[in-house]
Amino acid sequence: MNAESMIRDLEEKGFVEEELPAGTDLRGEILRMKKEKNAVILAHYYQRPEIQDIADFVGDSLGLSRQAAGTDADIILFAGVHFMAETAKILNPSRKVLIPDLRAGCSLESSCPPDKFRDFISRHPGHTVVTYINCSAEVKAMSDIICTSSNAAQVVASIEPGIPVIFAPDHNLGKYVMKKTGRQMFLWNGQCDVHEAFSMDKINALRKIYPSAKFIAHPESEEKLLEQAVFIGSTSALIGFVKKDPSDVFIVATEAGILHQMRKEVTGKKLIAAPAYENNTCACSECSFMKLNTMEKIYTTLKYEIPEIIIPEPIRLRALLPLQRMMQVSEQPGLSVAPASHAAN
Ligand code: SF4
Repeated sequence: MNAESMIRDLEEKGFVEEELPAGTDLRGEILRMKKEKNAVILAHYYQRPEIQDIADFVGDSLGLSRQAAGTDADIILFAGVHFMAETAKILNPSRKVLIPDLRAGCSLESSCPPDKFRDFISRHPGHTVVTYINCSAEVKAMSDIICTSSNAAQVVASIEPGIPVIFAPDHNLGKYVMKKTGRQMFLWNGQCDVHEAFSMDKINALRKIYPSAKFIAHPESEEKLLEQAVFIGSTSALIGFVKKDPSDVFIVATEAGILHQMRKEVTGKKLIAAPAYENNTCACSECSFMKLNTMEKIYTTLKYEIPEIIIPEPIRLRALLPLQRMMQVSEQPGLSVAPASHAAN
C-alpha cells in the first residue's frame, strides 16, 4: 500500500483499509506484530470481546490512564475512543500512541466544544474547573482538575469548601456527584447518548421477569434510573459489585461490552444488559463509537503505525497538569485542590 492511498484513506475514512488474504490469522498476526514492535494494547471494557481478549490490559478510564502513564512499550495501541488515546499521549508523550479509527469519538466530548467551554469559564470567574476525562485535550487544558467516574466524588470533595465549582461535560455525573458530596456546582449540559438511552419501562419489565434481579448502573445514566439502582459505580466498580454480591441475576445499565469482562470474572450468574428505548439507533445499549474498532483495523494500525495521535506541545503541557492532579488526589485521599490560574485560553 503506498503512502498516498494511506493518507487518502485516513482523510476519507479515519483508518487505513486493506484487503487481507483469505484465512489471515488476525489474532496471531496482531500478537506477532505486538511483540516485534514492543507494543502494548490497552482496551476499554466497552470494546468488542475479541479485542478485549488480545489486550494487555482491559479497564476503565482511570485504570487505562495509569497503564498508559506507566508503560515502557514503544507503541501504545489504544483500543478505545479518541479522548482516551489523547489522554495516553498527554501522560506518556515519548510513546507512539495509535488509535484504530480516528472517527471513534464520544458524544460527551463533542457536547463540549472548546470555544464554547472557554466562554462558559470566562462567565464564571474564580471557579475551580473540574472536567470529566471524556473531553478533548483542549478542554482538559482549560481545566483545574480531571476526574473519572471512579474518582469524581473524591476529586470534588478534595476542593476547598467555599470555592465555587464548574463541572463538565456530563450533567448526569455532575448531578450524581452533587448528591453524593452535597456540593453545589455549575454543570455543563453534556450527555452520553448511550447512558441517556436506557428505557426504565423496559428495565421494569425485566425486573418483573426476574424479581430477584439487582439493578446496577453507571453514574452517566439519568437521575430517574440512578434512583432505582441498588448500586451505582464506574465500570470497574460494577464488575467488583457483581463479583462480591451473592445475588444470581443482575441488570446492568452501562455499555453492553462490559458483560464480556463480567462473564469472565463471574461464573454461574445471569447478567443482563439494560435495554435502550425503541427509537435509539440500535436499542442495544452499545456505543457506536467504541464499536468502530475492529480486529482488521487493529491489524492495519499496528502494521502501518497509523492513525497516530499528535497533540500540539503547548496544549499537551497544559492538559497534563490537571491530569496529574487527578492522579495525586486518587492516590492521596483528602488532598486539597485550590483553583489554579487556568487562563481560559
Ligand atoms: S459510551 Fe458514551 S461516554 Fe463512553 S465513549 Fe460512548 S458516547 Fe462516550
